[in-house]
Amino acid sequence: MTDQPPTLPTSMRAGRILGPGHTVVVDVPVPTPGPGDVLIEVARAGICGTDLHILDGDYELARFPMTPGHEFAGVVVALGEGVRRSALGQRVTADPNLPCGLCPECQRGRANQCHDLAVVGVTRDGAFAPYVVVPERVVVPIGELSFAAGALVEPLACVVWGLERVRVRAGDHALVFGAGPMGCLLIQALKASGAARVAVVDLAPSRLALARSLGADLAVTPDELAALADVAPLGFELVVEATGVPSVLEGAVEHARPGGTVWVFGVAAGDAMARISPYTLFRRDLALMGTFAVNQTVPQAVALIQGGAVDVEPLVSHVLPIDAFAEGLRLAAHDPTRMKIQFSFGDASS
Ligand SMILES: [Zn+2]
Ligand SMILES: [Zn+2]
Repeated sequence: MTDQPPTLPTSMRAGRILGPGHTVVVDVPVPTPGPGDVLIEVARAGICGTDLHILDGDYELARFPMTPGHEFAGVVVALGEGVRRSALGQRVTADPNLPCGLCPECQRGRANQCHDLAVVGVTRDGAFAPYVVVPERVVVPIGELSFAAGALVEPLACVVWGLERVRVRAGDHALVFGAGPMGCLLIQALKASGAARVAVVDLAPSRLALARSLGADLAVTPDELAALADVAPLGFELVVEATGVPSVLEGAVEHARPGGTVWVFGVAAGDAMARISPYTLFRRDLALMGTFAVNQTVPQAVALIQGGAVDVEPLVSHVLPIDAFAEGLRLAAHDPTRMKIQFSFGDASS
């Protein structure tokens, strides 16, 4: 009962994780959209730190074997029964989070904390394959955005959700630890939100240079932290930890201005611990805040890119075919200079 053109292939090459540390590229059936679903022909799909945690076997939501890939863009090529709004040929991305809509957290608007959260590319097959099925309700059109940009909407949507919680005030000073893809999205989104000056810290000179070109007012290595006083002599109203390294969080607290916020954005291992002085939080009126994933913030991320406030294409450092699945994951895990690594599928990869 699906409106599926006969031209679609029946099998496809997918990058799969069979268990912790075990990747393969294998032929799997092209999925069929069920009622309310659409089939998306994937053009680009980006590797995220979450994928590396899944590969390591330390991401609690993941179930093996599975096809990861939750940051993607492509074209709608088949519609399941009852699909009302999506159209064949539409250029789209999707919110990978599929909250149940029924649990107490969903009912109070905290869908990202859903008790029964399904996630495309985590709990069900994702977009490291030429085709992926998602419910129509999470599909978001990207208009004329490139597919490379469309596959960076989801990470930017994580930043937007964080900004809804953290609340930058006009004229704030912000410090970001980590100038990877997320750090570079944060820098731009913080400036678009009213931060007067944004500083960033990273080990890799190439990442610092890119951060400067995207608007960072100061980009330094951890050996050059004394220069932070030039940007914010009284400390930073907002300090963002975007590395996932516990010791970086421990050091981040020292840079917060009294009354400021320390934002835990990077993904640490589930059992990692950090030492933070409760007295410092108390004495300086500091807020310590974490933000998780996306919460109905994908359309805002599309708008930020379409409006020119956030430039995402320079963040893509590698474009690989899916046959280089293991190589892409290896680069993502071990190359400290790489930025966003995307897999490209078919001819639609512009
Ligand atoms: Zn991600
Ligand atoms: Zn729920």
